[in-house]
Amino acid sequence: MRSYDAIVVGLGAMGSATLYHLALGGRRVLGLEQFKRGHELGSSHGDSRVIREQYFEHPLYVPIVQRAYELWRELEARTESRLMTLNGGLMIGPPDGMVVGGTLRSATEFELPHEVLTAAQVSERFPAFRLAEDLIAVWDPRAGFLEPESCNAAHIDGAWRASAEIRFEEPVIQWAPDGDGVRVQTSSGVYFADRLLFSAGAWSADLLRDLTLPLTVERQVAFWLEPDESTVSYDKSCFPIYAYEYIPGSVCYGFPRLARGVKASVMHGGELSPTPGEVRRNVEAGEIEPLRAALSAILPSLARARVLDSGVCLFTNTPDHDFIVDFHPQYRQVLVSSPCSGHGFKFASALGEIQAELLTTGSTRFDISPFRIDRFPDGLR
Ligand SMILES: Cc1cc2nc3c(=O)[nH]c(=O)nc-3n(C[C@H](O)[C@H](O)[C@H](O)COP(=O)(O)OP(=O)(O)OC[C@H]3O[C@@H](n4cnc5c(N)ncnc54)[C@H](O)[C@@H]3O)c2cc1C
Repeated sequence: MRSYDAIVVGLGAMGSATLYHLALGGRRVLGLEQFKRGHELGSSHGDSRVIREQYFEHPLYVPIVQRAYELWRELEARTESRLMTLNGGLMIGPPDGMVVGGTLRSATEFELPHEVLTAAQVSERFPAFRLAEDLIAVWDPRAGFLEPESCNAAHIDGAWRASAEIRFEEPVIQWAPDGDGVRVQTSSGVYFADRLLFSAGAWSADLLRDLTLPLTVERQVAFWLEPDESTVSYDKSCFPIYAYEYIPGSVCYGFPRLARGVKASVMHGGELSPTPGEVRRNVEAGEIEPLRAALSAILPSLARARVLDSGVCLFTNTPDHDFIVDFHPQYRQVLVSSPCSGHGFKFASALGEIQAELLTTGSTRFDISPFRIDRFPDGLR
């Protein structure tokens, strides 16, 4: 009988980070992943993820992202890898919009260094940007990007070096409480543990049918573009990450030029699927058009650029777009983690630490009360 202190189901961003922190804490842990290492079927692939401190969604995220910054740097040092580049960020929109207003709220509440820039000031400092006159930007000097494949690899390698047992291509098929612990059945065996973490991303609702979690799986397409750089540069030294509210409540975002091209995407608005298995994985030629239309008011040369590549990725959304990190309502030995809604990656290092704490001590110093399951009173999809 194979028995562990904790089993982690799903080794994407959240599972790999939690496994790492559990293993560093000396726990006997098993990580189970249904697919190959480095697969591209979930939510944690695609070269780049935005990290920003002045969180326009809500100030409650600021202390968590501040811890995440520290832990990404620690992970870089421990694994001698480059994971995070802080080239700054522009949060762009109308002055009374959600992005500008929310960014200023977090910046003010936490006294974070920031600058409010007019359209002309943005172009002066970052020549690729040509903002329509009615737009402004808030400059977040600590924003930048993470390299998700390297982040996940660093957590997995770190966990393995700290003696975690890791099994790829071994899906969890069933689980059940077993006294105070759990019993987990996979495609090749049965395991027991005192604690269980579900960090199964878009597959969470499937594994936790008893909870009927109100999660939806949304198809997202990212594009890698090749803008004309003869007069303006998209190099990270002079081209920050950005988020732009192009119509009220709708955001597109992007990155400087990295190895695969200049990546940009529209957030949300993708096709919804009942399960990840039904997501359309191909990308049609016309799917770039909403992104081109959105970019034309801030980055005209990028809006016209040739498409080099595209890729599909999955958002797992809650109705309010806040995360789920909470114990199973019936079984306190089981922790449920679904920090996505399109903005979870940056927090993975901190949520890994928080989730490891929750699994070992039952509590955390961070306020994660907004991530409770019982905020969905019916618990129904
Ligand atoms: C296009 C796109 C852009 C994004 N941009 C940003 C951004 O800029 N900044 C940001 O902070 N966030 C961003 N996000 C969100 C962020 O990437 C996600 O919040 C994060 O990756 C979620 O990680 P996860 O571990 O929950 O899910 P995943 O990484 O998908 O991991 C879940 C894992 O569980 C495994 N699994 C599922 N079922 C089983 C089973 N039965 N047995 C074993 N294993 C199983 C899956 O195979 C998968 O590997 C973006 C997401 C997408 C899709």
